[in-house]
This record gives sequence, C-alpha cells and structure tokens, in this order.
Amino acid sequence: MTARSYLVIGGGLIGAASALRLQAAGLATTLIDPGDPRRAASFGNAGHIAAEQVSPLASIDSLISLPRRLYGLGGPLDFRWRDAGLWLPWALRLVAAAGPARHARGQEALTAILAEALPAWRRLAEVAGTPEVVGREGHAVVWMSPRRAEAGLKAWSRAALGTTGFREMDAAQLERYATVMTRAPAAGILFSGTAQVSEPQAARDALLAAFTERGGEILQGRVQGLMTGSRITARFADGRRREADAALIAGGVWSGSLMQTLGTPAPLIAERGYSVQSATHGWSADLPPTVFEERSMVVSRFTSGLRATSFVEFGSPDAPGDPRKWHRLQRHLTELGIGFEPQPDRWVGPRPTLPDYLPAIGRLERDPRILYAFGHQHLGLTMAGITAELVTALATGTDPSVDLTSFRIERFGPGRAADA
Ligand SMILES: Cc1cc2nc3c(=O)[nH]c(=O)nc-3n(C[C@H](O)[C@H](O)[C@H](O)COP(=O)(O)OP(=O)(O)OC[C@H]3O[C@@H](n4cnc5c(N)ncnc54)[C@H](O)[C@@H]3O)c2cc1C
Repeated sequence: MTARSYLVIGGGLIGAASALRLQAAGLATTLIDPGDPRRAASFGNAGHIAAEQVSPLASIDSLISLPRRLYGLGGPLDFRWRDAGLWLPWALRLVAAAGPARHARGQEALTAILAEALPAWRRLAEVAGTPEVVGREGHAVVWMSPRRAEAGLKAWSRAALGTTGFREMDAAQLERYATVMTRAPAAGILFSGTAQVSEPQAARDALLAAFTERGGEILQGRVQGLMTGSRITARFADGRRREADAALIAGGVWSGSLMQTLGTPAPLIAERGYSVQSATHGWSADLPPTVFEERSMVVSRFTSGLRATSFVEFGSPDAPGDPRKWHRLQRHLTELGIGFEPQPDRWVGPRPTLPDYLPAIGRLERDPRILYAFGHQHLGLTMAGITAELVTALATGTDPSVDLTSFRIERFGPGRAADA
C-alpha cells in the first residue's frame, strides 16, 4: 500500500525542497528540524547551481593534486587532526572509490542527474510560487596571472561539462571587474547552463513558506532514532514521538547516525566550508558569481549582500570554526581590492560527503518505508530541485526521471560485493 503520510527529517535545502514536493503531491507531510538555520550547510553556501561539476571529486587527479592544495601551502584543503578518527577511515574508502572504472561510472551518474538540476530548480521555484528565487544564469571563472590563466584554460577545455558550456571573456568583459577591484583579471571564462539562487537561505525560506501554506507541518526538534514497527515512529531527543506511514531522511551530514539506528551504514564526513558576507559593498549587479581560481574562492552577490566562500576542512560537523580561515578569506578580498566591511558576518558549515562524491537518494532495502536523500557534497543546493522530484517519484510510485542505481546507500554495504 502506498504511504499517505511522511516525516521528513531535516530542513536544509534537500529536506525543504522534498517536503514541499511531497506535500504538493498530496501526501500529508511533517518536516522535523531543530530550527537553527545557521547550523545547516544550506545556510552560508555560494548559491551556485553548478550543473558543470559532473566529474566526481573522488578521482586519481584529486589524489595527485592533494599535496599542493593543502592549507599549510596556501591552498583550500585542511584536516582537523583531532578528528582524524572520523576522516581517516573515510579517506581509505575515498581512495577505493577513486579508481578509473568507478570514477567513470560516477561521472555518468552525476552527468545524468545534473542535466536536470537547473530545469528542476525552475520547476520547484514555480511550485513555491517564487520563480525569482532562481536568479541570473551563468557564472565566471577568472585568473589574475596570465600563466595560471593558460593552465586553467587548458584544464577547463579538457573537462567534462555536462549540459553546460563556456566561452572566453573579451577585454570589455574583463574590464568590468576593474570597477570593483584593483585591476581586471588577466583572463576569464563565462559559463552558460549554470545559474545562481537569489540567496540560499531566502530560497530555503521560500520553500518552507510554500510548504506550510499548502498545509505542511513543521515541528522543531532533533530526531534521535527511527522505530520501524507497524508505522514509522520518530523519537525526539526531548522524548516526544511522532508517527507516520513513512519517512525521508534528509539530515545532511547528520544523517549517518539515523541510518545507523536503522542498521545501514552511511559513511558521511563533514567537509566544512567557510564564508564571510558583507551587507554593504560595491560589487556590481551585472557581474556574475565569480570563481577566483588561484585563490579557490567564490564571490557571489546575493540580495542580502556580497559573500566570499572557500575551504574544504575535514572534521567534526559541530566543531567551532577556525578563525584563520575567515582571516584568510578577508585577506584575499583585501589583496584583490574588493570592497568589504571590516567586520563581516562569518559562517562555517558542513558539506555532507560520501566517499565516492555521489549523493545517496533512494528507498532503503531493509525497510521500503524509509526514503533517504543526503550526501550531496558540494552540490546540495544544485541538486535540491531534482532530488525533491526523485524522492517524490519514489513516494508516489512513479518512475524516477534519473536512474538511481548509482545513488543506492547499500553501495557501502554491509554484505555487498566489492565494487572498486
Ligand atoms: C562554503 C560552502 C559553499 C557551498 N557552495 C555550494 C554551491 O555553490 N552550490 C551547491 O550546490 N552546493 C554548495 N555547497 C554545498 C551545499 O551547501 C550542501 O550540499 C547542501 O546545503 C546540503 O543540504 P542538506 O539539506 O542535505 O543538508 P543541510 O543543509 O546541512 O541540512 C540538514 C538539516 O537537517 C537537520 N538535521 C540533521 N539531523 C537531524 C535530526 N536528527 N533531526 C532533525 N533534524 C536534523 C540539520 O539541523 C539541518 O538543518 C556549499 C557548501 C559550503 C559549506
């Protein structure tokens, strides 16, 4: 029998988008979230609908380039040593997933799902009644040094890009940056087929507002475990309980402990990213979100201000932020001459990442009343719309528009034949 009522656990972009879609499909849906928006990865991200990132980061190239990307050498990649017990076992799985055959299968799967990412966001924004949430199309990648530009252009020309494409910027396009920075970049490329949201938290708020307007219920609290008796019961940390026919686990990086209570491992790690945001700034509205590739930094103009994001720090999702990273972001902005407040808003948040850099989207084999959608790594904002459609297809018994085989959580065992 098809479930008529759903508990959605987690109100980040994945949970919020899925809850809205489930409710819109006529299912009685309750979303449960602790209600601290800044804790979620969905709060302070770069807002980029990154349909071009079809190549999973679990790859031989990533492993080879790792040493030169280390934080200590000026790069974006860092490891919290006191959390080595969390990321070391995960890193061993990553190495196993980076082999050419598995990487090629992952790229095929990401290419298929990302082809639908931007169209699905537009459809989702229509369902929410706020089409303006999907903002301008395209983004830019720029280089300040001609030498790095040459290498960067070569690398992008060889890269798989899915449904997106790019062209080189002309002198006039580069010169527009000279009005908001000390000087224009040496070179840059402009992508088509990508986009940005008006503001990540505003997008999430719009989805949640539409969800409650359609009769959806939001409960504040943290689910400690799921019990799978005749119905699905969520047990809250404060002792409350709530039942429904079925549940969707969409708790970002924290989904692992819930999956553990259901006997299925989900080896998630927090890849913590940092951002600073300035409410006042001089960044022009006609400039696209821009990746400063030499500095591994993205600058995005949102309705709430100008945001710079960077870093991949492996560690506990709930550890305090490392102030050196906010300082370095601010130093990059100062060196580039980008106007920013001296005391910007500072944020750190955990990308939820599985060792093969593919999301987990599907129906639990041990109990088909449990759906899951987490592990969207660097692409959770991008994939929110399509994930919500896929989850709703599963819940309503229709064919998902994307083959979900590669996204099964059971690919991490137990008892599954070795895959790498
Ligand atoms: C610096 C940075 C920049 C990024 N830029 C981009 C970008 O430009 N484009 C892009 O596509 N992606 C980007 N990402 C990645 C993206 O932000 C994440 O993939 C996405 O937000 C994950 O969404 P989520 O809903 O799965 O998880 P989250 O946003 O982390 O939300 C999970 C929610 O579930 C709640 N929760 C967890 N456990 C429970 C429980 N037991 N009970 C109840 N509630 C629970 C949490 O409190 C939280 O509110 C970026 C990430 C970072 C850190």
